[in-house]
Amino acid sequence: MSTEQTTPTPEAELTFADIGFAEPILRAVLEQGYTKPTPIQAQAMPHVLQGRDVMGAAQTGTGKTAAFVLPILQNILPLASSSASPARHPIRALVLTPTRELADQVADNAFKYAKYTDIRTAVVFGGVDMSAQTTLLRSGIELLIATPGRLLDHITQKTANLSQVQILILDEADRMLDMGFLPDLQRIIGLIPSQRQTLLFSATFSPEIKKLAQSYLRDPVTIEVARQNAAADTVQQIIHMVPSEKKKDAVVKVLNARIQKGLSRQAIVFTNSRIGCSKLASALERSGIKAGAIHGDKSQIERMQILESFKKGTMDVLVATDVAARGLDIADMPCVINHELPFNAEDYVHRIGRTGRAGAQGDAIALVDPSEERLLADIEKLMNRKLVRMPVPDPAGGVAADPFFYMPYRAKDESIASNANDLNSDAAGKATSVTPAKPAIKSAAKPVGALLGGFKKKT
Ligand code: AMP
Repeated sequence: MSTEQTTPTPEAELTFADIGFAEPILRAVLEQGYTKPTPIQAQAMPHVLQGRDVMGAAQTGTGKTAAFVLPILQNILPLASSSASPARHPIRALVLTPTRELADQVADNAFKYAKYTDIRTAVVFGGVDMSAQTTLLRSGIELLIATPGRLLDHITQKTANLSQVQILILDEADRMLDMGFLPDLQRIIGLIPSQRQTLLFSATFSPEIKKLAQSYLRDPVTIEVARQNAAADTVQQIIHMVPSEKKKDAVVKVLNARIQKGLSRQAIVFTNSRIGCSKLASALERSGIKAGAIHGDKSQIERMQILESFKKGTMDVLVATDVAARGLDIADMPCVINHELPFNAEDYVHRIGRTGRAGAQGDAIALVDPSEERLLADIEKLMNRKLVRMPVPDPAGGVAADPFFYMPYRAKDESIASNANDLNSDAAGKATSVTPAKPAIKSAAKPVGALLGGFKKKT
């Protein structure tokens, strides 16, 4: 496989107009409040527009969805038609994602970006009735976002035909492989013309991902915008050593300390098991914290309703397992709490990727029982940094007694202290340099009704 590494800086001054988007796309981008492309966008978009295959490694929250959706729309725009005939609207671009939530989120963005064009966009995923999706697919869809299993169901029922797909996007390809989707991917790709453009996005370029790229991408441009396995520099990571039986109380203390400091009440709390997830959400509720649980045992509709309440702010704390939370883009998420450490160090990076997105500030707090020291060591090794240990804050008092007490919980609008403490550095354990605050990304509320159908249509 021949690859080409792009140079990292010239994108700094680039605007969306410079990249060459048509007016209806530019208008939609401006409406989103995006003033300039993020690094992954500036690097990937020109190549995608030229029709090149791209292999992109980008951290969660870097703006990678727009990095591929906007140029795809531009590339299929000349074929867009206002005709009502389904035959004029074959599937021309297909985005595959590992989870329903990610599919829904990509589709949400795609709808906004395609709003002023005639390009029809839809999303199909499992866990919801197929009939509404079938009607929509029959009416003709040019940009389809799908999870592999449900797409194969539609293919079997002959409601989806991939014979005219020109662009294929594998989003979060690493997670698709982790979730065992390789056979489904192989079947789906086998139905797409080999004369196509293929884009692959993945958090890391593992040997399996490289093999996948070798099989399905042609002379791809490789783009890596951030150091692999690194959390965004805007995330401040803190470890509280807490015995497991005291963890629930510690979550309550951490949340109350934040509120006392005038910080947002909102947080995502990660647990390793479905049962633990439900139990913790109930315990938080009993402590007066508005919390909901999302995990694999909840129905798709329940998960989406909880997510909507959380996004609207009627619920403060979302307790989640990894699979359920994967790919959720909750903009401006200020705080992620690990109720326990994940078994896999890379999942820790994914978890804390919920905060500090697209330049926003965030706190990532982990409650670590002595039995989890080994997992913590793995995480520190993967991230090549020593994480700061601090006592659990006590909102009832103790601020004066310990000058470091409130350090993890910055006052509102306070600049973030970098926690990039090198493992070998003398400064390890102390927050040192200061990074200026960056503007937060806006989150768009969406009607629950649209979510429940499991499909969407441009209005
Ligand atoms: P993603 O990495 O695709 O999940 O995007 C993370 C967030 O960044 C989303 O809420 C996007 O709406 C937002 N975003 C994408 N591109 C830009 C941009 N150029 N400027 C500001 N925000 C952006």
